[in-house]
Amino acid sequence: MKHLYGLRREELADWLKTELNEPSYRATQLFEWMYQKRVTKFKDMTNLPKHLRTKLEESAVLDTSAERLRQTSKDGTVKFLLGWSDAVTAETVLMRHDYGNSVCVSSQIGCKMGCNFCASTLGGMIRQVSAGEMVEQLLHSQKLLDREGGRVSSIVMMGSGEPMDNLDEVFRFMDIVHDEKGLNIGFRHITISTVGIVPGIKRLADDGRPVTLAVSLHAVTDEKRSSMMPVNKAYPIAKLLDACHYYVEHTGKRISFEYALIGGENDSLQDARNLANLLKEIPNHINLIPVNYVPERDYTRTPEEQVEAFVKELQRLGMNATVRREKGHDISAACGQLRAEHEKQGVEN
Ligand code: SAH
Repeated sequence: MKHLYGLRREELADWLKTELNEPSYRATQLFEWMYQKRVTKFKDMTNLPKHLRTKLEESAVLDTSAERLRQTSKDGTVKFLLGWSDAVTAETVLMRHDYGNSVCVSSQIGCKMGCNFCASTLGGMIRQVSAGEMVEQLLHSQKLLDREGGRVSSIVMMGSGEPMDNLDEVFRFMDIVHDEKGLNIGFRHITISTVGIVPGIKRLADDGRPVTLAVSLHAVTDEKRSSMMPVNKAYPIAKLLDACHYYVEHTGKRISFEYALIGGENDSLQDARNLANLLKEIPNHINLIPVNYVPERDYTRTPEEQVEAFVKELQRLGMNATVRREKGHDISAACGQLRAEHEKQGVEN
């Protein structure tokens, strides 16, 4: 069965032509039903001829996911755990901001990057998430917003997984949701967050889709960064920053750097000064994230006064830095936590 959410409009047109002998404008009609009217059954696509609806029912599928868990926070954040037929699950989160609604999408089931503060990587990588499954995550939040007349206005690839370890499918996903006959989400409203895969950053720089790049930095020396993020051994800080320069030169866009503040690890005022010094040549925004508590990891959070002092020091040095206030802190907020809890409880998929 063909998973239609995983196809760009032109890919859908090709498939309709070769498999079902249908003209290409049917792909546009289908896109409108799937993404604008958000109908999930072929039989409800009333402007398609009956014979086509029957053929589609026999040869294609739309939503392949099932909601396994849902947690709603007092601040309106909703975290979903979705499951697929091979018994794997992935998290997706709907966040509400003053500027609109954003959805956090998982690009892999688990992760192989091994960052030592992150819950997503605890069980290694299970498998890639397909573009169609990323679309399903997005539509899941959109359907909830439909009931209140809202829309998803931005996407962050900050769920479980490393998007640059699955970049072809991430690009396909972005093209599908960007399509003007579909959800019509601007590339500028899509953020790809990476541990710092240098070839991926260069590919994004050469690509031309004006998406936003976020780089998870978290430390300012190779010694410290390698101890927290094994990927730093393959792509140390100097190589990573070279790739960042290359990205800025080719796109003219600034880069968002993520910096998780971990008590006593990377949160001294000297660390703040070193961070400012490291990034001063790159147009950037620094996002400070007080580390989320993960039960399996023995990290402490940076005290609130120290968070304030750290951000003030960066600002004093002329850096554009803000603290990302946690969304949904009363629910399992950290990456991979909902899934980790679910697996621990041995809940049936
Ligand atoms: N693999 C990508 C995207 C996924 S995680 C990346 O690493 O960028 C999105 C962000 O959350 C990353 O900056 C990641 O380092 C951070 N993160 C992971 N675990 C965290 C935790 N326990 N507390 C705070 N931030 C965390």
